[in-house]
Amino acid sequence: MLFFLDQHGCAKNQVDGELLIGILNAKGWTRTDIPDEAALIIINSCGFIESAKQESLEAVITARTAYPNARVLLAGCLSERYPEELSETLLEADAFFGNGDLSRFPELLEQMFPAEGTPTARPVLCPPICGVPSGERPELLSFPGSAYVKITEGCDNYCSFCAIPLIRGPLRSRTISDIADECESLVLRGVWEINLIGQDLGSFGLDGGISVPFGEKSPLAQLLARISTLSGDFRIRLLYIHPDNFPRDILPVMVADPRLLPYFDIPFQSGDTTVIHRMNRKGNPEDYLRLVEDIRGAFVESPYGKAVLRSTFLLGFPGETEKSFKKTVSFLTKLRCLWSGAFIWSREEGTASESFGRGASKKTAQKRLDALLEIQRTITPEELSFFVGQHLEVLVEELIPLSDEDRATAERTKMPPTQLALARAWFQAPDVDGSVVLQFDETTRDNRGKPLEPGSVVTAKILNVNGVDVEAVVL
Ligand code: SF4
Repeated sequence: MLFFLDQHGCAKNQVDGELLIGILNAKGWTRTDIPDEAALIIINSCGFIESAKQESLEAVITARTAYPNARVLLAGCLSERYPEELSETLLEADAFFGNGDLSRFPELLEQMFPAEGTPTARPVLCPPICGVPSGERPELLSFPGSAYVKITEGCDNYCSFCAIPLIRGPLRSRTISDIADECESLVLRGVWEINLIGQDLGSFGLDGGISVPFGEKSPLAQLLARISTLSGDFRIRLLYIHPDNFPRDILPVMVADPRLLPYFDIPFQSGDTTVIHRMNRKGNPEDYLRLVEDIRGAFVESPYGKAVLRSTFLLGFPGETEKSFKKTVSFLTKLRCLWSGAFIWSREEGTASESFGRGASKKTAQKRLDALLEIQRTITPEELSFFVGQHLEVLVEELIPLSDEDRATAERTKMPPTQLALARAWFQAPDVDGSVVLQFDETTRDNRGKPLEPGSVVTAKILNVNGVDVEAVVL
C-alpha cells in the first residue's frame, strides 16, 4: 500500500519522519510523492509555536478535503501535545499518533488498517515517552549527501518561553557507540555531511547516560573524539548548543580533525541580562561574548582560518523594553555572527512565561524583529567576503536547468553552456543558511570523477558575495 508523508517543523521531526518511513517500509508500505494515490496521508506535525501549529492544522484540513479516499493521520508534536483536545475537535483527522515512542507505530497502523476485521474508529495512540527514537532510515529526506543524526531527545533546560520539554519530555541521550555506528553506516551509504542534532547538544550525556570521570572530557567531547576515529571523507556539523551548556573542551578535539566543522549554532536569544534571566537562562552578554572569543580563537590557525556562528533571537518577550532591545542590537553588532534568525514570543500554555505579564505589542515586536534582521543583512555579506578567493569543497544540492536561451547561445557559439547549481560550503548549514551558486559546464567532473549531480562534492573557487549567497566556479 502507498503512503504520503507531509513533513513539518524542525530537523528533529524530520528524523522522526524518516524513522516512520523505515517502520512503514518494514510493514510493506511504500512512500509516494503523489498524495492522490496514497491510502494513508501522514501529517508529521510541529507544535512549537502558534504559527507552526496553525500550519499543521491547515495541512490536515487540506488533506481531508483534497483526498477524501485516503486516511489522514496526525503524527508529530501537535498530536503529542494535544491528543485529547484534537481527537475531539479535529474531525478531519482519522487517527492520532504521538512521538513519545515511535517503535509503537505498528500498533496504530494495525488499528487503522487491520489485517482482518474492521478498522478502529479514529484511534489515538500516544505511548509514554521513552528513549531516543532510532532505527532504520532507508530514505533520507535531506538533499543527497547530507543527513541529520539525532543524538539526544527531550530537554531539561526549561527555558521559560519554550514548550519543547512539555512535548518531547526530559533529556535522553543515545550511547556514543550507537551514534558512532550510525555515522559510520551513513558514511558507507555515501553521506558526506552529517549534522548532529538534539534540543541542546551541550546537554548530551548529562542525563547520566554517559560516565564522565573527574577531569575527563565532557560527553560531547568524548563523542566527537570517538567519531574522529572513524575512517573516511566526511564532515560533521553541530547544530544547536545552549550557550550556558557549551562544553569548551570540544574545541581542541575539533581543531585536531578538520572533518569536524567549526560551525556553531548557539541561540543567545537576547542581549539583555534581565531578559536572559527571565528566560530561565543563567548567562549574560559579557560571558557570551567571551565564549565566542574563545571559540573564534581556537580556529584562527586551523585550515579553515576561522569559526562561524549562527544564532537566534527571541523578541517581544515579557519584560523586554526599548532599552533592553537596544542591548540586543549592540550585542548582535558586537557578535558579528555569520547567520542569525529571530522570532516573536508567543504565549505557550504550560510554559513558565505563560503567566508572565504582557509581551510587547505585535507591532512593536515585528518592528524590532525587522530591525534585527536588517542589521544581520548587512553583517552577513561582510563576513562572507572572508571566503572570496578561497578554494573550498562544496556539496551540490540542486542542478539549475538550462534555459532555452542558454541552449540557443551554446548552439550559436559552439561553446558548452555555463551551467549553474546550488551547493553549500562548510559555513552553510542545510535549510537555514545561504548557498553557493556554482558555475560549471558539461566537461566538469566532481571529486569522484563523475558528472555533477545532487550529492556531488567538488572543489570550487569562491568568486564573490551576492547578498547572503556566494558565487563560485568549479576548479
Ligand atoms: S534549550 Fe531551551 S529553547 Fe531549546 S529546546 Fe530546551 S527548553 Fe527549548
